[in-house]
Amino acid sequence: MYFNCDLCGGQTEVLPKQIYHYKESGLDNVYLENIEVRECKQCKEQSAIIPRIMQVHKLMALAITLSDTPLNGKEVRFIRTELGYKIKDWAKLLKVSDATIVRWEKGSQTIGAQSDALIRLCFIQTIQERDSQLFKESVIKRIASIKEGQKPSIFINVTEPSTYRYFIAA
Ligand SMILES: [Zn+2]
Repeated sequence: MYFNCDLCGGQTEVLPKQIYHYKESGLDNVYLENIEVRECKQCKEQSAIIPRIMQVHKLMALAITLSDTPLNGKEVRFIRTELGYKIKDWAKLLKVSDATIVRWEKGSQTIGAQSDALIRLCFIQTIQERDSQLFKESVIKRIASIKEGQKPSIFINVTEPSTYRYFIAA
């Protein structure tokens, strides 16, 4: 298939599989492994070719949920949109105001430790109820071990089945 660049209309080529910093996800710390990237020969604009994007996004949300540093605004926004909640319904579920959700997601209000835990449990429970997917890992153990610290990068390997791993730069 032949594609032109969205920005300049130039010719594009597919680069060999590589690690791609997936900033379009709205998250700062997610990298996709084993991914083909289309690059414009003219303006060098790059776009990732993400296979099975819904599964990849679900795995990203799971990796965030099972990480052991406190959730930030970008992460809770990703989890909410991944679950398909509007702000109003998400606020109702978490027993906070709409304005609180907005401030969390903008990063202008800290997400309390109890809300953090509830968000994670709501994600896991929704996945279990909606997709009948059971988790091998102990979610409770992960939640119990949440502590302040350097947020790890999340690497998602997009091969089938997709896997994730955490990486903390030394
Ligand atoms: Zn271009």
